[in-house]
Amino acid sequence: MPELKLFNTLSRTKEIFKPINDPNVKMYTCGPTVYNYAHIGNLRSYIFPDILKKLLTYIGYDVRQIINFTDVGHLINDADIGDDKIEKAAAEKGQTAWELSKYYAEAFKRDITALNISFPSKFTYATEYIQQQIDMIRTLEQKGFTYLTSDGVYFDTQKFPDYGKMAKLDIEGLDEGLRVDFKDKKNKTDFALWKLSPNDQKRQMEWDSPWGKGFPGWHIECSAMIFSELGSHIDIHTGGTDHIQVHHTNEIAQSECSAEGKFVNYWVHGAFLVLDKDKRMGKSEGNFIGLQNLIEEGFYPLAYRYLTLTSHYRSFLSFSPDILKSAQTSYFNLKKLIRSASEKNDDLNNEKAIIYAKKIIDSLLDDMNVPKAIGIMWDLVQDNEVGGKNKIDIIANYDQILSLNLLDFSDFPELQIEIPQEIVDLANQRWDIRQKKDFQESDRLRKVIQSKGFDIKDSKDKFDIVPII
Ligand code: AMP
Ligand code: ZN
Repeated sequence: MPELKLFNTLSRTKEIFKPINDPNVKMYTCGPTVYNYAHIGNLRSYIFPDILKKLLTYIGYDVRQIINFTDVGHLINDADIGDDKIEKAAAEKGQTAWELSKYYAEAFKRDITALNISFPSKFTYATEYIQQQIDMIRTLEQKGFTYLTSDGVYFDTQKFPDYGKMAKLDIEGLDEGLRVDFKDKKNKTDFALWKLSPNDQKRQMEWDSPWGKGFPGWHIECSAMIFSELGSHIDIHTGGTDHIQVHHTNEIAQSECSAEGKFVNYWVHGAFLVLDKDKRMGKSEGNFIGLQNLIEEGFYPLAYRYLTLTSHYRSFLSFSPDILKSAQTSYFNLKKLIRSASEKNDDLNNEKAIIYAKKIIDSLLDDMNVPKAIGIMWDLVQDNEVGGKNKIDIIANYDQILSLNLLDFSDFPELQIEIPQEIVDLANQRWDIRQKKDFQESDRLRKVIQSKGFDIKDSKDKFDIVPII
């Protein structure tokens, strides 16, 4: 199997990937909290695991990937205080929490489909794993890692000496603002495993438990779903870098204390999409852009995928409509070059083609250097010494991983423009005249057509009408 290098947040280095149980790979991708649409920043955090899964599959591994839906328990504040995001949004919209989370989970599936992100082996919903979460908390309780407060069951982070190791947390100096001390917590990093329903408020989502009616903490959900679907030791866990400090740090603590042993071998984190001037995009920051907003503005979902692939997954990606507009132009220009290659069925210089193909896969295997791979594809399609057929074979091969529909030539924006009947008639008239070799008159008609915003592309025995854009 070719050697894949992955940057592991645990060691902060690129490591050679070795699965626990070759050729199987167990992979978990932290899913969305479904109280709103995913914004395009969130969606970036599902594109790089999609590339990773397809790359692993391409080189011969058998990947089982889980993506969860956090449909309960994610509070508006990481310090375990405040409302549940889903209950709050449901109350604002006059829907039930169940309806709301189901609606946004389906919307997420539509968005990722539009971005050619393939579905995981299974989507898991946190509300369907309540018993497993209770069982895990019981195990932690029996092992002495928890304590009770008036508000729920908490994990005592002082009992886990490795707490915060991945995040390299400086616990003493930890920003108080990040983890506000809550009245009954023993340590500021302790976190809720089970929250009791408030006495004065009826929650829509609540369950009986050994500690009283309540709901799970957000972090325990992921660990319980992972244990249940993949086991207590998995190969890869992905998510955005914002999760390193709290969510993933807490997942490690509770999982490793519950099962005793390493939880995840490779933590792979993707950097944020940021708005111009480095402002972060957030569902709660009021600068939300969803995929549907882009589509309404005339953008193609795959142009957004292309944009995200032109920067490395561990680098910030600056977003603005102008940046996306130029990415969309490049995306279609690349496809036009590929279309031209496909029209030449020649088979030149196979040796040079092999070198290009090797450079592309080597880039992908080097911690998913997709921008480099795309740069090599640009060089390939513009290289006159490589035959069209060789180019198309290479593009087809690697588009299995990139999933940019590079060989679909039906979606060029100009083809979506309806051609008026008047232009069709003029073009037919010109074609007849041209067949009779009256080139002067056919050129005149072509100019008339051009003055109306269209052009004619002649080939041997047919012509195409193309809008001038
Ligand atoms: P959430 O729905 O908030 O749990 O987030 C879903 C995923 O999106 C997580 O992996 C987050 O780390 C990630 N995420 C949140 N904001 C951004 C952003 N601006 N850019 C990239 N990923 C993000
Ligand atoms: Zn998670």
